[in-house]
Amino acid sequence: MDRNSESTTPHHVLLVEDEAGLAELLERALRDDGYAVTVMHDGSEASDWVRRNDPSLVLLDLILPGKDGLTVCREIRAFSTVPLIMTTAKVEEIDRLIGLELGADDYICKPFNPREVVARVRALLRRSFDWRESPQGTGLSLDEERFEAYWNGEALALTPVEFRLLKALSHRPGRVLSRAQLLNAIYVDHRVVSDRTVDSHIKNLRRKLLASPVAADPIEAVYGMGYKFVIE
Ligand code: CA
Repeated sequence: MDRNSESTTPHHVLLVEDEAGLAELLERALRDDGYAVTVMHDGSEASDWVRRNDPSLVLLDLILPGKDGLTVCREIRAFSTVPLIMTTAKVEEIDRLIGLELGADDYICKPFNPREVVARVRALLRRSFDWRESPQGTGLSLDEERFEAYWNGEALALTPVEFRLLKALSHRPGRVLSRAQLLNAIYVDHRVVSDRTVDSHIKNLRRKLLASPVAADPIEAVYGMGYKFVIE
């Protein structure tokens, strides 16, 4: 049965799992539920593949040959907000993984029932899908799977970083976000960039908003504090 009825094309799941038997079980369970699935048995190509193919969701095992799940997750989060579920064989690993703030959206411990995994996939996709409906009252529509932003129906050509900035700001209209908070929203590893980076990205984002058919700038600088999104 196709449970992806909210979408015209099936959701595409990337499954990175080195245990061949388990990968096969999961792949079958996901396909039975209407998902398109790409399977990889090691981590070495995973983030490049995500960059090129823009899947709807990534199911990523922690311990992998080639490149481990931690590294792959960090690489993906450097350019993508794709919904990501991490699987691990050790339940005690999960707290540590959460502490590392990798940016995974959910964690599943092995052994698991493939049906349970499919249910978590479905739930996470639904959550992500709801989110892209629109930050309320802004006229914005943000498609996180494709990094596509629309403002009153008009497409904005944003970079992934600008997309995340706009998402972070518009999600909390009227609230000031500090440059540090914004850096957290746009980069996985923000030690490598300075506060000024936020200012240049904000400048580019405002220029694009002003150049759009809506021709407005909803982003306000708050001196000494940061930025906020203002709904007129
Ligand atoms: Ca493994």
